[in-house]
Amino acid sequence: MGSWRPGVEGRGRNISITPGPIKRFTFMIEEKPLASWTGTDRLDEEVVPTLTVILKTPGCSWRRCRMCSYKHEQHGRVEDAEALIRAQLAWVRREYGGRDYDLVKVFSSGSLLDPNEVPPAALDAIGETFRGRTLVAETRPEYVDRERLEALASILDDGSVDRPVYVAIGLETTNDQVREKSIDKGFSYAVFLHAAREAHAAGAGVKAYLLHKPLFLTEAEALEDMQRSIAEVSSHADLISMNPCTVQRRTDLEWYWQRRAYRPPYLWSVVKILLEADRHVTADPLGGGRHRGPHNCGSCDHELVDAIRDYSLNANRSRLVEAMALPCECRKEWEFVLESERPYCMPLTR
Ligand SMILES: [Zn+2]
Repeated sequence: MGSWRPGVEGRGRNISITPGPIKRFTFMIEEKPLASWTGTDRLDEEVVPTLTVILKTPGCSWRRCRMCSYKHEQHGRVEDAEALIRAQLAWVRREYGGRDYDLVKVFSSGSLLDPNEVPPAALDAIGETFRGRTLVAETRPEYVDRERLEALASILDDGSVDRPVYVAIGLETTNDQVREKSIDKGFSYAVFLHAAREAHAAGAGVKAYLLHKPLFLTEAEALEDMQRSIAEVSSHADLISMNPCTVQRRTDLEWYWQRRAYRPPYLWSVVKILLEADRHVTADPLGGGRHRGPHNCGSCDHELVDAIRDYSLNANRSRLVEAMALPCECRKEWEFVLESERPYCMPLTR
């Protein structure tokens, strides 16, 4: 969806001023974000034009998640973060100024609401840049704070949107053991629930990202984990997005995958989960049909990926029903795997 434009690192326009023989200042007026693209998304039963921006920041405060390669993205020092973010916003304003988009999703490689990664003044500048639009701000839950969100919403709000801010949190699963052992995410479900309450109290929406098939789970365990997570988080999240796991480079997950100790989920599982969920759940099968992404046998993948994307955007269930009924041989393989795969043994004690 949309045109993807990879960011080019370190290509900002820099200006140097030499006021005298002693001091030399360098500051940026524009800096290209890590990536940015336009597309469409589903929000409040409508399909809306979207801008996605991935900002360069000093990076994630946690950097331990087993499947995440964004932990390697660290740009500049904390004390320079505000200038770096302002320079990227200047680039975004020039590049997308004339474009029509209602929703803007802003990611960093960490948390937009972490004041040590995105200084409060830089967060305000993000609000000013996207005033009049709905902002989806991705963050770890420990940084969700009612007062900060209210302040951000008041900057964004020009009276034209119902809910100016959504916080997007990578909850991954509602199961604390799976989140700890298979992901190493470093927070509990209780922390997420607290953040969701804070966000709602501030009038913000909550988007929960769930990870389908983290390390060490069988296909059947992963399917059950996702179905339970969707059911449990449903009353606490306004939007649920399921991410079928992709093998990113330089991660623990890749280490296991290279040793045949991990396989990304079958697309059959993804379709089954979406079909059986009690509410609309979106899924972006990134890398769908490739070895590193969610995949089936190679010949039916394309149709399933298309159906998943169509359902995510248009909530068109009939496409999913048709996809599930595709007469592909690999369906039997998937059923065999669901039935026969046995879990790894992890000791409960040391
Ligand atoms: Zn197949």
